[in-house]
Amino acid sequence: MIQLVKGTKDIYGAEVKLWQEVEGKMRRICETFGIGEIRTPAFEFTELFVRGVGETTDIVQKEMYTFTDDGDRSLTLRPEGTAGAVRAYIEHGMHNQPQPTKLYYISPTFRCENTQAGRQRQFHQFGVEMLGSYSAAQDAEAISVAAALLKEMGIQGVQLRLNSLGCPECRSRYNKQLREFIGSHLERLCPTCQERYEKNPLRVLDCKEEACQAVIADAPSVLDCLDEECTKHFQTVQDILTEMGIAFVVDPKIVRGLDYYTRTVFEFVSGGLTVCGGGRYDNLVEECGGKPTGAVGFGLGIERLIMMLEKQNGAIEQQPERDVYIGSMGEAGWKKAQGMVFALRQAGVRAECDTVERSVKAQMKYANKIGAKYSVILGDAELEQGSVELKEMATGEQESVALADLEAVLKEKICR
Ligand code: ATP
Ligand code: MG
Repeated sequence: MIQLVKGTKDIYGAEVKLWQEVEGKMRRICETFGIGEIRTPAFEFTELFVRGVGETTDIVQKEMYTFTDDGDRSLTLRPEGTAGAVRAYIEHGMHNQPQPTKLYYISPTFRCENTQAGRQRQFHQFGVEMLGSYSAAQDAEAISVAAALLKEMGIQGVQLRLNSLGCPECRSRYNKQLREFIGSHLERLCPTCQERYEKNPLRVLDCKEEACQAVIADAPSVLDCLDEECTKHFQTVQDILTEMGIAFVVDPKIVRGLDYYTRTVFEFVSGGLTVCGGGRYDNLVEECGGKPTGAVGFGLGIERLIMMLEKQNGAIEQQPERDVYIGSMGEAGWKKAQGMVFALRQAGVRAECDTVERSVKAQMKYANKIGAKYSVILGDAELEQGSVELKEMATGEQESVALADLEAVLKEKICR
């Protein structure tokens, strides 16, 4: 027996219903916010992610599923959604449309990580990217999409954490300060951080090791290194969020795991787990070969969202539900039932009949199990009379209905 690959999951039964509900809410919210869907390929040239995500990130250094195809090209399964969306934005000249361009996606995402609760190798991201504006209002709009979704899903106890990394000048000033600070505590850091602090000291702030967390507790704050414009931009984001009634805390330790962020970065955290992370990435479009373009976005892990929902609301148990079961007795009735069910289904009625050749008694038991609201039994007598007894399963009440009227009667009942 071949089993599924570690870090992957089958989604089926009651759980898939919850997924559909969650995805439906995402799509509806995006429709309201004027965000159009984009579906990019599951794999891209490796170079796109190396350039887009950043050479010194965990993703590029150890988490990508990379392979060589028959043309000796290096390809990578999407480890995040922004790079692909940015490539598509440039490739299709979307900057020529009225700006901003607002895109969303719901896509499988692949990272070769150690699996544990909330951490898989194939997971799903709901992502939003808004391109074509440098304004703080765009940051707030992007954040408000995630806030609206989490509110709509009824997730409790999530906190929005907000920070600004400034422009590249601010950031390099801060990097220098941080490198000096970290340099004087080097022996207390984990081996990875001892290595990476030279190239990318911000990564140390993001390290999950306790020892490193202890060191960075006293690190200088990036907010003290922001120039006037970056400070103003960050303040405006906060002002607009307040205007929107979206609560947040400023946390200067938030840096996010990707290299491309500039200015605003944010996370929605619940119970120590980040469900959503994002920020502004003003240099990425240019980095990927486009014109300088202000942009902001986020990625939200759907598995983590579902985990939170289940933890909060208990495991989902959805009752099955069908409109009608067309039972039958005898071969003529049985064949007629197949035809009737097809006609009813085409009319939008959720109808079922016997396809495993059960006895009448077993058919009725089955009708109960699948949650049929109504049932009929079609035998030789019914065919001859041209009418059936339509039974409401919950009450046992019956009424006589002409076969020719059955579709109309059922449609009338189910839309009530
Ligand atoms: P973490 O710090 O938890 O590793 P990250 O910074 O790598 O998260 P992002 O790259 O910002 O995460 O991805 C956005 C969201 O995608 C995360 O907030 C999380 O909800 C989800 N996510 C990331 N990696 C995984 C994974 N391996 N399995 C399931 N969900 C994930
Ligand atoms: Mg990660």
